[in-house]
Amino acid sequence: MKVISSTFLPFKGFTAINLFGIIVVRKECFPLSRQTINHEIIHSHQIKELFFVGFYMWYLTEWFLRLIYCRNFKKAYKTICFEKEAFSHDANLEYLRSRKRFAFLSYLK
Ligand SMILES: [Zn+2]
Repeated sequence: MKVISSTFLPFKGFTAINLFGIIVVRKECFPLSRQTINHEIIHSHQIKELFFVGFYMWYLTEWFLRLIYCRNFKKAYKTICFEKEAFSHDANLEYLRSRKRFAFLSYLK
């Protein structure tokens, strides 16, 4: 997994973004903790399961719909099924050994 630092990405208030398996980290958040790296690796699995473009289309659509519902950017972000799965398990560095494919679907509520 490739990790690069950036001054502008992701937006302020966020630590890292996974772009097609490349982790872009805000300069002031570098280096990443093991937990955050694990979080991004969980996203890499989700991205592959939805053939890359499908992941980003679903992610943005779900974020937008949740934003309409709750009218709060951060809350909308935290409730996206991909984020809920990643935040629920990123502290467990062994999670990916037992993770079932499409596990994010169980966080769609
Ligand atoms: Zn995330």
